[in-house]
Amino acid sequence: MAEKGKFQAIKGVRDILPPESALWNRVEQTAREVFGTFGFAEIRLPIFEPTELFARAIGQETDVVAKEMYTFVDRPEKLEEPETIGKYGDFITSIFRKYQSGEIPRNGYNEFALLEMSKSWDRFKSLEHGKPVSHEEFDNVTRMLVLRHSLQLGPEVSLRPEATASVVRAYTEHGMQILPGNAKLYYIGPMFRHERPQKGRYRQFYQIGAEVLGASDAPGIDAEVIEMLMRLFERLKLKGAILNINSIGDKNCRPAYVEKLRAELNKVREQLGADSQRRIETNPLRVLDSKLEHEQAIIEKLPRIAEHLCDACRAHYDEVKRQLGLRGIAYQENWRLVRGLDYYMRTTFEITAPGLGSQNAVCGGGRYDGLVELLGGQATTKGIGFAIGTDRLILSLQEAGEGAVQSGFDVYLAWFGPAAQVAAIGLARRLRDAGFVVELPAVEMKFGKSLGLADRLKARHAVIMGDDELAAGVVTVKRLSDGTQQKLSEAELFSYLRAD
Ligand code: ATP
Ligand code: MG
Repeated sequence: MAEKGKFQAIKGVRDILPPESALWNRVEQTAREVFGTFGFAEIRLPIFEPTELFARAIGQETDVVAKEMYTFVDRPEKLEEPETIGKYGDFITSIFRKYQSGEIPRNGYNEFALLEMSKSWDRFKSLEHGKPVSHEEFDNVTRMLVLRHSLQLGPEVSLRPEATASVVRAYTEHGMQILPGNAKLYYIGPMFRHERPQKGRYRQFYQIGAEVLGASDAPGIDAEVIEMLMRLFERLKLKGAILNINSIGDKNCRPAYVEKLRAELNKVREQLGADSQRRIETNPLRVLDSKLEHEQAIIEKLPRIAEHLCDACRAHYDEVKRQLGLRGIAYQENWRLVRGLDYYMRTTFEITAPGLGSQNAVCGGGRYDGLVELLGGQATTKGIGFAIGTDRLILSLQEAGEGAVQSGFDVYLAWFGPAAQVAAIGLARRLRDAGFVVELPAVEMKFGKSLGLADRLKARHAVIMGDDELAAGVVTVKRLSDGTQQKLSEAELFSYLRAD
């Protein structure tokens, strides 16, 4: 906080202000329109979900789950508090049961508190009635009460770091597999990750994403999803976008490749940085994603997944590329593109855009055929999707000069005198009904001041209404860019504004 009594937005989160917010609206509206033409419909998802949903979907070992999630313990549902010390035994028993069933978070913290509370309770219970209570016994009871208040009794929830897990949860929860064809869903909204804030990287950031879920994993689906993305970027006039694609195999061929990779990485372990060394054990594929300068030459010599795909994955990948060709979509193959979330398999893709420095990925996506089953849904359901980083997309558009938004008022309605105010209120209403953007001063101002404000607001026209105009049944219209001025009837004013 900068000064006493003043507030600032939390580190890594920001306000999106006008006129920039108009650009955000245009981008999101264009996405709705383009996705709509491909038969996608919007799904509105919760901002927070059980932590376990993300942990299972994204993977415990990923940076997102291990380091970046905003997780907290929610308040418990109604809980019977022990009214007296004598009721603590029953209380501890009931909490223990909830702990074992997973109703309250199974973490080291709760485990410790429950065990220690039980010990304190046993000791308290064995006290002989009628005897004076010693200091130690008093401390023992105090300890039990303090431990009670350190229990984390509510369920553990997290702000969503991404939305695919939620879409898949919703798909199964609402039985969407019985719908005809594939479920084609898109979402728009904020995501939360505790990362180091920098240009194009925030703790609250925004995504526009889409998912296709259904029984088919036809490569034509992958290609159409990518085509939809490229159409959106085209419509937004995003220049210099580059599509990178890869296939990372499936559960038949990837494990063998990962083992081979691990073996090779172990041979060069000493030359790698600490992060990569750790990933040899936890997630060797992620080493390929390393941006460290001195690791690049080493990585270039590692075995490539493309040479280890099984026949089915190879055929799928070849067909995705052919289908992209049918759609006239240019791509680069990038064998190091593995993506940061564990659920991806086969097709992965990423789109980079200029003007973003090292945060140059505006969109990431891929196929995740096992995810529905992993989250308790039907094993036969396949999925593919992408997420666009809206913040970065907007930055890139702005850097390229495509971010300009026409802002400002069509009409500044300057009125002078009480009778003119009445007429101005009526005219403002009719102009707004016709779709014009109108600024109507709330209080009367001197002529010069009022017209000065019209200029500073960058209004296109000032419409002037005073006693003279009222008497003549006209308004004075001044085009503020060049100062040309004319008197018009209301009907003429409307056609003039439409034509100008
Ligand atoms: P990066 O490698 O840049 O961290 P990621 O692989 O973590 O990206 P995904 O989880 O695939 O990203 O999310 C898809 C897109 O969301 C990214 O391509 C990026 O445009 C955007 N994105 C991800 N994290 C952030 C963030 N912290 N701030 C802004 N945009 C982000
Ligand atoms: Mg990331």
